[in-house]
Amino acid sequence: MSEQPLAIRAIFEHAMRAHAHKYIISRDGDAVVRFTYAQFGRRVAQLAHALRKLGIGPGDRVASFAWNGHRHLELYFAVPMIGAVLHTVNIRLFPDQVAFVLDHAGDRAVFVDASLVKAIKPAIALNPDAERAFVVMGETSELLAGSSRYEELLAAEPDTYDWPEFDERSAALLCYTSATTGDPKGVLYSHRSTYIHALSIGLTDAMGIGERDRVLPVVPLFHVNAWGTPFVSLMVGADFIMPMERLDPAGLVELLESERVTVSAGVPTIWMAVRDLLRARNTRLPLLRKVIIGGSAMPPSLMDDLEELGIRAIHAWGMTEMSPVGTLNVDSSAADDKPELRRKERYTQGRFSPIVSWRLVDESGNDVPADGTSRGELLVRGYAVAREYYRNDAATAAGFEPDGWFHTGDVATIDPYGYLEIVDRVKDFIKSGGEWISSVEVENLLMGHPGVKEAAVFGVAHPKWQERPVAAVVLREGHDLDEEAIRGWLLERLAKWQTPDRILFMTVIPRTGVGKFLKRELRAQNERLFAEG
Ligand code: ADP
Repeated sequence: MSEQPLAIRAIFEHAMRAHAHKYIISRDGDAVVRFTYAQFGRRVAQLAHALRKLGIGPGDRVASFAWNGHRHLELYFAVPMIGAVLHTVNIRLFPDQVAFVLDHAGDRAVFVDASLVKAIKPAIALNPDAERAFVVMGETSELLAGSSRYEELLAAEPDTYDWPEFDERSAALLCYTSATTGDPKGVLYSHRSTYIHALSIGLTDAMGIGERDRVLPVVPLFHVNAWGTPFVSLMVGADFIMPMERLDPAGLVELLESERVTVSAGVPTIWMAVRDLLRARNTRLPLLRKVIIGGSAMPPSLMDDLEELGIRAIHAWGMTEMSPVGTLNVDSSAADDKPELRRKERYTQGRFSPIVSWRLVDESGNDVPADGTSRGELLVRGYAVAREYYRNDAATAAGFEPDGWFHTGDVATIDPYGYLEIVDRVKDFIKSGGEWISSVEVENLLMGHPGVKEAAVFGVAHPKWQERPVAAVVLREGHDLDEEAIRGWLLERLAKWQTPDRILFMTVIPRTGVGKFLKRELRAQNERLFAEG
């Protein structure tokens, strides 16, 4: 058989030949712009020439600091297809973290959205002597010192490119984890892993995306390659729609509606806001057939609410180190005549992708059974699972076994039909009086309370119990609940020792750069809550 390399170029060239008439659509300022794949492909070629003129060659790293928009997607193809590496920087990191990742990656050029020029300036000021080119994407009067304008660079270039062929193991993309502890850790994806991951997520029992679909990733292009959606969409010829900075629920609903989106993806907090808006307006999105929800646990109540609105919510679990998809929740035949089993399995994180091998192990590293109740730490290995962190031997030694198994840091159960349920992250478990409380379990319950909009549960040091659970809660409008009311409701459903000692009412729960609840900050703000005296 042919040993033609698995490469992003293969996805691109197939898309251009087989689906030239399909669309890449993006908000751009107040407008919505549309490019056929063919037009998009010509811009990708122009960008490739422009990159070469900037001095970018094979192996060089190029950073993006951008929303989900068509120019960012052009970088997704042009940069890896000339053999360079696209480093998608999380625009919500703190300036010192942005400075850290640009420096750690050794980025030779940074492509910045016009609306983000202001946001990146403090990071650049931290390292003014770094030698790198800046390119500003979109209209703005605010430029960076020495920067060029994206459209001017492209306009000067020819619209075809003689794409080079290289080893499929060459690096293509680079993404850093969002650093819930310590410095961000880089994961370098190869052409081969990107291609295989795209194939795997397109399967019917995975995201199940086809040519008829119109895909809108709410998940950022800087959050683990928007979970692979750009590559699978172009692979199958789906229209691809991007919202730019309009991530507010009204802006999203407007675009989902006007662009007749059929598949979307994002973290739970986004879909909570969309659900609330749809309910408040008493409208539906009849064409949106499914949304992929992951990044943190989807509360069962959110899933029920979305299904009531006619939207199939597919729970997914993954990690930056896994490209990211590990599991997706699609109904199995085993539960067809077992409604109880179906109910239970539907809320889990789903079944494993065929390209991921897994083990559940106890603290001594012994395998625990996949019986749906035994808990263990989840280890993974696979075609699109990292083997090491980028330029970080210490983190690699801590996270990976010598034979390649990666420690996810997640504690889970797996049932006999292969459904994974994440019990909690090791570091989010609450250790109370020798027992372990799953923060996820308490959060899921709380978010099922009719008056609770959002909840995050975390452990706080306690002089007697080591730690006790505390809940941060955002109430729904029009609900007036106090601590005792919520604790009373919880006590009817949970053992006393599992019930949070304190309920803290907040107007907003702090979030990570990709929209997950930021428990580290909640813990830090409340570390002395139970201090003696
Ligand atoms: P970070 O660890 O910085 O948040 P990732 O985006 O790679 O970076 O997060 C991966 C982690 O997110 C997983 O190890 C897991 O703890 C959590 N996670 C992702 N998806 C889910 C899910 N569906 N349910 C529960 N936890 C999830």
